Order: sequence, then structure tokens, then C-alpha cells
Amino acid sequence: MKISALFATGKPLFSFEFFPPKTEAGAANLARAVHDLKDLSPDFVSVTHGAGGSTRDRTVDLVTRIQREEGMRAMAHLTAVATTRDEIATLVDRLVDAGIENMIPLRGDPPADEQDFAAPPGGFAHASDLVTFIRQRHGSRLCLAGAGYPEGHPQCRDLDRDMEHLVTKVKAGIDFIITQLFFDNRHYFNFVARARRAGITIPIIPGIMPITDAAQIERITRMCGASMPPLLLSELDRRRGDPVATMQLGLAQATAQCIGLIAGGAPGIHFYTLNQSPATRMILTALRIANPTESLAPQRGERQPSEARR
Ligand SMILES: Cc1cc2nc3c(=O)[nH]c(=O)nc-3n(C[C@H](O)[C@H](O)[C@H](O)COP(=O)(O)OP(=O)(O)OC[C@H]3O[C@@H](n4cnc5c(N)ncnc54)[C@H](O)[C@@H]3O)c2cc1C
Repeated sequence: MKISALFATGKPLFSFEFFPPKTEAGAANLARAVHDLKDLSPDFVSVTHGAGGSTRDRTVDLVTRIQREEGMRAMAHLTAVATTRDEIATLVDRLVDAGIENMIPLRGDPPADEQDFAAPPGGFAHASDLVTFIRQRHGSRLCLAGAGYPEGHPQCRDLDRDMEHLVTKVKAGIDFIITQLFFDNRHYFNFVARARRAGITIPIIPGIMPITDAAQIERITRMCGASMPPLLLSELDRRRGDPVATMQLGLAQATAQCIGLIAGGAPGIHFYTLNQSPATRMILTALRIANPTESLAPQRGERQPSEARR
């Protein structure tokens, strides 16, 4: 079933993102996370495509296995990095043949030693080109998502221009947007308001990454350009060297964020799990107990921009 069909229920969608492991220990970790999180009946899970297109086959294998064997609706990430049109066509056809109806076509990042992304020979320069290509090949039988950046993409900090590019991607045929991670809900609500003003009407699911490790989150935010509010940074600093206290802070932060997002009308939460289950389990359990759509929000669905701002 296409993820796009689920939005009509009006219920917030919860989803988990996994990455294909490279080692046996990583595989065991992932198996544990999938097993633990399956229990929470996510609306869908997604499987990333390694940087530089490095995990293409493993992404296809994992996304297919999760959908077939674990019975969870699975979405494949694919990127344009180091990939020709023909290779993308083969990859998408393989996924379609395996029964995968949900995909998120991405541009991907340039290699670490290169500043700018250069389209590979015979490949695609922007995610929107990839979306157009897949739509031409498979029409509307697939549900396609796209990435959005509440604080602007690191290579396009001009928010208006970045929004114009997002409009192009929506027009190319994406059905919904998943955002980059952020730590201040105002970034999300302002982004939604700007997108609505730009004429984007599709659902925008916020992406949340619970902090579980200080060094790791610093590395990730440096890479993706997400900012940390000063208070969160200083609280993180105070707990430096204390993994349990750091995890507790991360749980409190992400739980508060998720409750605020759902209460403010977000159509779901996409959890960047990093193949770990405990934090996501605790947050989603808290969220279901708090039931913010019933107890906090006066109405369901995304509100108008002025109401949505927090
Ligand atoms: C939900 C989510 C999932 C992700 N999954 C993966 C993954 O599995 N593997 C991975 O390697 N990376 C992943 N990423 C990271 C992503 O690949 C990077 O953020 C990448 O730099 C941009 O990809 P994009 O699809 O947003 O690109 P695009 O939409 O192409 O945007 C990239 C940049 O180009 C600009 N741009 C877009 N269109 C145009 C245009 N027509 N003319 C000029 N400029 C333009 C944009 O403003 C932006 O600065 C993910 C990110 C998110 C938010």
C-alpha cells in the first residue's frame, strides 16, 4: 500500500528509519532494533542508501526483507550519487519487482573532499530530476517522498531559493515531504508556513533524531547543518562524559519536541533511529500515552500557519 493513502485517515503517521549495517555486529544490532520496534506497529519504515551510493544492493535486500518477512510497509531511499540513469532505472525496477511501492529519491551528498555536488556523467543533478525520471518510468503506481530542510539546505542557506527548489521537487511529483532533523520546533512550524505560502499542499512530516550520544550528534549536526538551541547545547555540555545522563536529556528533549509537533498539527513523526530501539520506543510510548492530538490539540490536521507557529 502506498504511504500517501494513509494520510487520508487523519491520524498521525509514525515511521522509523534504518540503515543497512556493514558488519555482523551491526546486523545483530539492526535485527534487535527491527524486532523491538515492530512491536510498536509503525505506519512505515525506511531504509537509507549509504553515502556515495555505497549500499545499493544492501538497501534493496534490506527493504525487501523488512517488507516481506517482517510485514512492515517499507520505503527505499535512493540517491543520484555516482549513478547513471540506466543504473537508477535498473534499481527502481528491481524495487518495483520486489513489491516496493514507496521510495524517497534523493540527490545525496558530495564526497567528503568535495564542496559541491556534481551530477555524475549520464546521471542527475537534483532530486527533482530523479523524481521526474521515476514518474516518467512508473507513473503514479509509486508513492514518492522528498527531503525538506526547515533551516535551509546547507548548500542553499537562502531560504526563499531553497523553497523554490522544493516547489520544483513537489511539481516533479513527490507525494509528501520528510524533513531534516531539527531541535527547535519553531524551525518546523515556520518551514510549514513558508511551504504553504509557496503553494505546497502535500503533508510535511517532521524528522526527529533523539540524542543518545554527544559526539555522534555533534558530528551529525555538523554534516547536515541542523542547529542546536544554546540551552540544549549547554545541557549537553554539562552531561559530557556521562552517557546515561546524555541519553536522559535526549529522551526528554525529543519527547517534548514530538508532543509539541503532534499537538501543533504535524501529520506524523519520522524517527531517525540510527538502528537503535530504546529511545524511539520510549518516546513513541510516551507520545501514545500523552495522545496530544486528543488532549492538547483542539483539532486534527495541520493548522493554518498563524496557529501552527510555536
Ligand atoms: C528525509 C531524508 C532522508 C535522507 N536519506 C539519505 C540517504 O538515504 N542517503 C544519503 O546519502 N543521503 C540522505 N539524505 C541526505 C541528502 O542526500 C542530502 O541532504 C543532500 O545534500 C540533498 O539531497 P536532496 O534530495 O534534498 O537534494 P535536492 O532536492 O536536489 O537539493 C540539494 C540542493 O540543491 C538545491 N537545488 C535543488 N534543485 C535545484 C535546482 N533545480 N537548481 C539549483 N539548485 C537546486 C537545493 O536548494 C539544495 O541546496 C537524506 C535527507 C533527508 C532529509
